[in-house]
Amino acid sequence: MEAIRSLELIFLYKYNRSFKVHSTPKPSSLPQTSSMAATPGFLTDWPWKPLGSFKYVVLAPWVVKSTYDSVTSDAKDIDYGLLAVFPFLLLRMLNNQFWISLSRYKTAKGKNRIVDKTIEFEQVDRERDWDDQIIFNGLLYYIGIYYLDNAKHLPLWRLDGVIIVTLLHMGVVEFLYYWLHRALHHHYLYNRYHSHHHSSIVTEPITSVIHPFGEHIAYFTLFAIPLLTMTLTKTGSIVAFAGYVTYIDVMNNMGHCNFELIPKIAFSIFPPLKYLMYTPSYHSLHHTQFRTNYSLFMPFYDYVYGTLDKSTDTLYEKSLEQKDESPDVVHITHLTTPESIYHMRLGFASVASKPYTSPKWYLRVLWPFTMMSMILTWFYGKTTFVIERNVFKNMRIQTWAIPKYKIQYFMEWQRETINGLIENAILEAESKGAKVVTLGLFNQAEELNMSGELFIRRNPKLKVKLVDGSSLAVAVVLNSIPKRTTRVAFKGNFNKVAYSLALALCRKGIQVAISRHGDYQKLKSELELSGDQEKLIISRISSENVWLVGDGLSKEKELKAPKGTLIIPYSHFPPNNLQKDCIYYPTPAMLTPKHLENVDSCENWLPRRVMSAWRIAGVLHVLEGWNVDECGNEMFNIDKIWQASLLHGFTPVTKSFN
Ligand SMILES: [Zn+2]
Ligand SMILES: [Zn+2]
Repeated sequence: MEAIRSLELIFLYKYNRSFKVHSTPKPSSLPQTSSMAATPGFLTDWPWKPLGSFKYVVLAPWVVKSTYDSVTSDAKDIDYGLLAVFPFLLLRMLNNQFWISLSRYKTAKGKNRIVDKTIEFEQVDRERDWDDQIIFNGLLYYIGIYYLDNAKHLPLWRLDGVIIVTLLHMGVVEFLYYWLHRALHHHYLYNRYHSHHHSSIVTEPITSVIHPFGEHIAYFTLFAIPLLTMTLTKTGSIVAFAGYVTYIDVMNNMGHCNFELIPKIAFSIFPPLKYLMYTPSYHSLHHTQFRTNYSLFMPFYDYVYGTLDKSTDTLYEKSLEQKDESPDVVHITHLTTPESIYHMRLGFASVASKPYTSPKWYLRVLWPFTMMSMILTWFYGKTTFVIERNVFKNMRIQTWAIPKYKIQYFMEWQRETINGLIENAILEAESKGAKVVTLGLFNQAEELNMSGELFIRRNPKLKVKLVDGSSLAVAVVLNSIPKRTTRVAFKGNFNKVAYSLALALCRKGIQVAISRHGDYQKLKSELELSGDQEKLIISRISSENVWLVGDGLSKEKELKAPKGTLIIPYSHFPPNNLQKDCIYYPTPAMLTPKHLENVDSCENWLPRRVMSAWRIAGVLHVLEGWNVDECGNEMFNIDKIWQASLLHGFTPVTKSFN
């Protein structure tokens, strides 16, 4: 019941009004509060947890004071070490983000992937506060510099300090960490603290910093040994500090990235390296086996104390040989708004795990980066890229993105380039063994490529089937219309889906109001063949209380909807949601069954585990082995695809009013 409520709340939040969900997705897939260790112990929560997303303010006084002190100092008295703390913290965040994006991209493609298990929303929710560690460290750096005289005015570089840090890390930190880690696996500490980190069997780079607060205190104390020794012996330097912390971050992220990236040649050139540097597959065994490979970054101590996992070498080699995955079905989508890059699965993990509505304020702050990325994609975006990989029973589904923004689909001079990108993606999907390619959002626009027809004409020998999913979109809309409806109005662009919807509604005895003469004439001549034409009217008046809405509905027209109108989109993009006293349904979509795995992000504006009809259609075509195209003027059997969707566990997300 709680699960139903959670999903319902998302709908209410996004679409203003009263949605009901027919079925319950599996509880783990729904937003939950982060689960901590099995029996949380003392110092489990971060002290700033009550502040929520305002937690960053704990750093503000220190950032302001350090900046003020530096600005008001004479040039020769500026403490560059102090001034560098804040930019360094930002760089650490950037480093972590880089690893998240890289790991998500590489593991979706499949090459060199280590653990082939799935990640769900629950893990993303649990790991969303990965920056707590950086805030915590930042506070300690500021306190250290302000209260330890030796930490002030560090030089840029000193060799002796670097040697001290290296030796202390290898001899002391690695040794103590090994035994601390063994202790953390004792059931008393494991249940209270360390089990939180081990909740992730498949790791993401930032899993590395997901620990209860108390455990972070222990780790910082360990890492402070070389740093404090360097400070107290006056051998410290900015490079040694930043270098050591960056080394820890890189090794941590790498160890949890779930794809193997250390080439064999590294170990053949310098064989002792296997005692000095772990690999991602090495630490992944600690997460799958729990009782082996305890070392921090240097496997040496596992060799010494006999805790090295026997399959370490085989897993390493197997992971390096792992090829790109062959998908059964490929969905081709594209970028939407400039800020959508952060919402993509390869962007900010926790932002991507929520429906994309309007850009958040903190994403707007990133506008210089957003603009830069847009310019780069505009000129250099030459190939599609994998953004997501899902598993449905034994079927492998991939989503690829065309590096073009929504706005570019409206530019005539961009059309050939976009079609070229889509065509190359289709051919690549075929060469990888895909059975079906679905065209998402504007990749199937009629004015762009006639709902995919262009690609069939250009490649008559194409084996992979092209599916635009129109039939399921029609079925979803038809089944969303309340049962007692007698009149509906069509608004916005009239396309293949609208045409089919209008015919079906007239034949069901529902009066259909069309505003454009051309569309009316075309429908009328078709309906005359079966004698159903009397239900079709041409009307610009907006008195109907059910609107079926296509793309391109202007704000002015949307504002003319009478109070209480039910607005059901058949569009790829949602309308503007301008009318607070109207009821908006989502774009055609269904709730996915529990067989769909590895779902850790939302499909654009759709709630968690809700998939667009166009994408589901491809899955159904493969599951049912239909082996036919659905593009151009071709429309698959609407009843047949609707029944198949229900049979395979997809459920409607809206409920008719009675
Ligand atoms: Zn452990
Ligand atoms: Zn770990």
